[in-house]
Amino acid sequence: MDCIFCKIVTGEIPSNKVYEDEKILAFRDLNPEAPQHVLVIPKVHLSSVSEATDEHIELLGYMQIKIAEIAKKLGVDQSGFRIVANTGDEGGQTVNHLHYHLLGGRFMQWPPG
Ligand code: AMP
Repeated sequence: MDCIFCKIVTGEIPSNKVYEDEKILAFRDLNPEAPQHVLVIPKVHLSSVSEATDEHIELLGYMQIKIAEIAKKLGVDQSGFRIVANTGDEGGQTVNHLHYHLLGGRFMQWPPG
């Protein structure tokens, strides 16, 4: 499958990893939008949350818990952070492999652009 994030999982494309285990990978975004900007992805290919089914319940719950741990590792758990999953064209998704943006290290605006 021609998916850049699958290639990051296999190591075919290099990444700046901040966390990895058997289920997920977290690496720094190539074009950071905040002082801390990490992408958290499942190792298994899943296009977006729109494609998730009951079989992914455990994985998606696992990701949320691990994101909180990664936020702590990045030192933004106390100051606060934002988790974003751009989904589909109007949601601004450009890579069709489910990923959560973990953004921190500055004040965030609302509503998002
Ligand atoms: P989205 O637009 O929500 O689908 O997010 C895709 C994100 O992937 C963007 O923030 C890109 O900067 C980031 N990105 C694309 N290619 C790479 C890469 N090779 N390594 C790290 N981040 C990447």
